[in-house]
Amino acid sequence: MPAIDYLRISLVDRCNFQCQYCMPEGADLQYLPQGEWLTRTELGQLLQEVFMPLGFANFRLTGGEPLVRPGIVDIVRDIAELPGTRDLALTTNAFLLAGMAQDLWDAGLRRINISLDSLDPVIFDRIVGGRGRSRWPQVWAGIQAAHRVGFSPLKLNVVVIPGVNDHEVLDLAALTLDRQWHVRFIEFMPIGNDSLFAETGWVDSEILRDRIRQRWGLSEGAVRGNGPADVFQIPGAKGTVGFISQMSECFCDRCNRMRLSADGWLRPCLLNETGQIDLKTGLRQGVPTRELKRQVADLLAAKPDINYKMRQSGTTGAYGRTMSQIGG
Ligand code: SAM
Ligand code: SF4
Repeated sequence: MPAIDYLRISLVDRCNFQCQYCMPEGADLQYLPQGEWLTRTELGQLLQEVFMPLGFANFRLTGGEPLVRPGIVDIVRDIAELPGTRDLALTTNAFLLAGMAQDLWDAGLRRINISLDSLDPVIFDRIVGGRGRSRWPQVWAGIQAAHRVGFSPLKLNVVVIPGVNDHEVLDLAALTLDRQWHVRFIEFMPIGNDSLFAETGWVDSEILRDRIRQRWGLSEGAVRGNGPADVFQIPGAKGTVGFISQMSECFCDRCNRMRLSADGWLRPCLLNETGQIDLKTGLRQGVPTRELKRQVADLLAAKPDINYKMRQSGTTGAYGRTMSQIGG
């Protein structure tokens, strides 16, 4: 059981995209009113007085889309400057990144994951939704800007959907040949858009590895880190290809993370809310942070058992929240 030292922080539940796999079709999602978001000050206080004393040192900012959160650069700077921060990363759709990459870097961010589900602008636009001008060029410009500024490792996340973008797997893997980029293929989960999932299903990572192996070869074993990806390399490539295989290969027993929602709920698992804690209400009602820390410590102690139960039951059941609401 790894040490639980990683907190995924959702800064906002809104998004400027409406990806097919993340949001239900025609979704009329009820977004949180802005006053329900943890403020910058509350977040800093929770990190310093609750999470860091309990050993949390690795943080990822996510959403919804974190770059639509007003004051995101200041939030990044606050967290990067805390002495207890070992690692700070951000996951984004990159639509707003071109104009923000340098500011984020200057604020202390060094690691970034970008969702890029297709290299074909028509398919990309179909996946991310919206009308009018293609969004692909602006996303690609965001990726280029992050590369230029020096973010490393630059990770690109691809959710593979049968019949939608699975035919692009080799083209996406080819991005790693002469760039130090890490392309990670994610098995589509039945979270967010159950009807699409029922229609398309998902592709087992082993099938993708086989396609890549047949085209170029692939390093023998996966390098297994603390995270959920199994990482391989095409021989001679500068970057790597990773596979996040939560459908075919449950990794709950390796899970070292907790999730903080934009409105301050601490949850032990993407799909399991057992023991969740409303930290924002606690703070706003004046509950001392030493008491909140005690509650979080209890949840930490319960986490191995939650991981075990998730492993037993599997992670594939449908779930009432979307990734953008949970902080995927
Ligand atoms: N908006 C940002 C983005 O798209 O990168 C950050 C939030 S998004 C919810 C985080 C990750 O969840 C993305 O990599 C996205 O592809 C993934 N995701 C969302 N819905 C998913 C699903 N149903 N199955 C697998 N991955 C999903
Ligand atoms: Fe938005 Fe990210 Fe969900 Fe796409 S995957 S709708 S970009 S939160």
